[in-house]
Amino acid sequence: MMVRADVVIIGCGMQGATMALAAARSGLKPVLVERDRIASGATGNSYGFIHGGLRYLQTMHLGRWRRSRRAQAWFLKSYPDLVRPLRCIMPLYRGRIRSPNAFRILAAAESLLSGAAGDAPRLSPPVLLSADDVPSEYPIPRQDLAGAAVWHDLVVPDMKALLLAILSDAEVTGSALIEEAEVRDVMVVNDRVRGVRIVRPDRSFEEIATSQVIVCTGSWTLPNLAGGEPASTAVLAFNLLLDAPFPLDAALAVSEIPGRGRSYFLRPYEGGTLVGTFYRAAPGASHPEVEPSDVAAFRKSIERALPGSALASAPVRRVMAGLLPDRDGTGRSLSTEDVVSTSGPAGFCRMLGTKLTTAPLLSFETAAKLWPSRAQGTA
Ligand SMILES: Cc1cc2nc3c(=O)[nH]c(=O)nc-3n(C[C@H](O)[C@H](O)[C@H](O)COP(=O)(O)OP(=O)(O)OC[C@H]3O[C@@H](n4cnc5c(N)ncnc54)[C@H](O)[C@@H]3O)c2cc1C
Repeated sequence: MMVRADVVIIGCGMQGATMALAAARSGLKPVLVERDRIASGATGNSYGFIHGGLRYLQTMHLGRWRRSRRAQAWFLKSYPDLVRPLRCIMPLYRGRIRSPNAFRILAAAESLLSGAAGDAPRLSPPVLLSADDVPSEYPIPRQDLAGAAVWHDLVVPDMKALLLAILSDAEVTGSALIEEAEVRDVMVVNDRVRGVRIVRPDRSFEEIATSQVIVCTGSWTLPNLAGGEPASTAVLAFNLLLDAPFPLDAALAVSEIPGRGRSYFLRPYEGGTLVGTFYRAAPGASHPEVEPSDVAAFRKSIERALPGSALASAPVRRVMAGLLPDRDGTGRSLSTEDVVSTSGPAGFCRMLGTKLTTAPLLSFETAAKLWPSRAQGTA
């Protein structure tokens, strides 16, 4: 018997799971198809931060600051037991971009904007530590150290558990969740979506009848799927799980040149230390393939950022990688724009969210556009 669905959502990362929730809140019964296992894509391999938005104030991206704050509030309110606040510490240096004065300005802007936005701060506000108050166990360079910025972000301790909770709220359980089934085709008749064709690991094909398909496959392209344009998959991003415990219940930001350049975070994870995130251009890539030379380059950066620390030479337990969309296809500039496209046959939609953090907002906004008379907002 052919399965029928109000809407088929393809891909079960944060985008697909929250899109299923948004569809369910709009009164639809979604079926979700995942070619692997849930959380096997960028979502499960991400660093797991639900950002509060402070980072966007450095570049005055006020819109993204606001969206991140709203998204963080959504996760806290909706899944308080599956996300947790984590203290983040960034050392500050005299005469560098990341200095105490620069941080004071950011913290003041954050407080002003939070007041104006009417958001009661849900996590502790950022504070500045003096150099004397930066604990000696922090494995950071001490020369020219002028203090440390301390703030809180949310982290997801168990991504799979969070996705399962979202799917359960969307009633995407039992036969509505189809794992290990790859969508190969969207079937179209008279320029309208009529269903999808899936293939199982034993190579058997099945069809699901539906008039609506939402592609949430992240940066994985679905070539020629209903004429949808492929995503540009030009940036490889990965984290390393090091086989050595991290001495703090906090995330520590470090960079190759103290106080400047790209930051890497270290935090405790599964008894080891999660270090991330390292990026490189990967134009045209369709899978996140991390070469030994990529790992070596990242390890070199970590060594420079943590001179003399045993962590820098700890064995790698796991490489956690994903692909991210870039802005211009060159792999040099990460995209920060969430994309929703309904070009293609009637009933076809493709979403490409660029952050785990803001995926739920994008899902609820998409539901409001697709089903304006039914959409229930983000609550
Ligand atoms: C290393 C790394 C660190 C990151 N850190 C952070 C962070 O700390 N905070 C943050 O906000 N963002 C972070 N991001 C970005 C964030 O992870 C992604 O933007 C987000 O997870 C994308 O979610 P998604 O559901 O769109 O994609 P994915 O999680 O990749 O899900 C897509 C799913 O679609 C499935 N799929 C693909 N093709 C098919 C098909 N044909 N049929 C069926 N299923 C299919 C895949 O198997 C996959 O499970 C990070 C990304 C990476 C790679």
